[in-house]
Amino acid sequence: MKKSVIYPGSFDPLTNGHINIIKRAANSFDEVVVAVAINSSKSSIMNIDQRVKVIKKIFRNNKKIKVDKFKGLLVRFAKKKKIKTILRGMRTVQDFEYELQMATSNNKLDSTIETIFMVADANYAHISSSLIKDIIKLGGSAKEFIPKAVEIELKKILNKDK
Ligand code: ADP
Repeated sequence: MKKSVIYPGSFDPLTNGHINIIKRAANSFDEVVVAVAINSSKSSIMNIDQRVKVIKKIFRNNKKIKVDKFKGLLVRFAKKKKIKTILRGMRTVQDFEYELQMATSNNKLDSTIETIFMVADANYAHISSSLIKDIIKLGGSAKEFIPKAVEIELKKILNKDK
């Protein structure tokens, strides 16, 4: 049986830390579905279609990695996809507290779904999408933390806003 995992998140924008988790997950699973959340409560820098498009572009040569978007309950999306494992990344103790709450809530909503965690690689553990957003909003360069395709997309978006 094919072993699939869902890696959900905002990915606003996708960082080198996310890429590290996705590639490592593809070593352990037959299929990794990167699920981009349509989340109206966060002030986003890239809209949902821009996020999905750039992630698809980055992983276009890897057949194991799929990209999708979802709205509403993650467990409902997982059920629709017939996938029983959710993957999240763990960087800090702060991540742990939040992730524990999310994983427990999702398990209460649907006990057939398990959340598993991958510890962030020490080279990327300091990277977060909010850090990237702050750097960019303050006029700095975030290219050390994000893939080239994201950098190009962000430049286009920021130039349009000018
Ligand atoms: P969310 O808004 O759902 O937290 P994010 O896009 O910020 O979405 O993160 C998605 C997942 O990736 C989360 O599990 C988060 O902890 C993890 N993650 C984010 N940045 C990193 C990183 N640098 N290294 C490893 N995991 C990360």
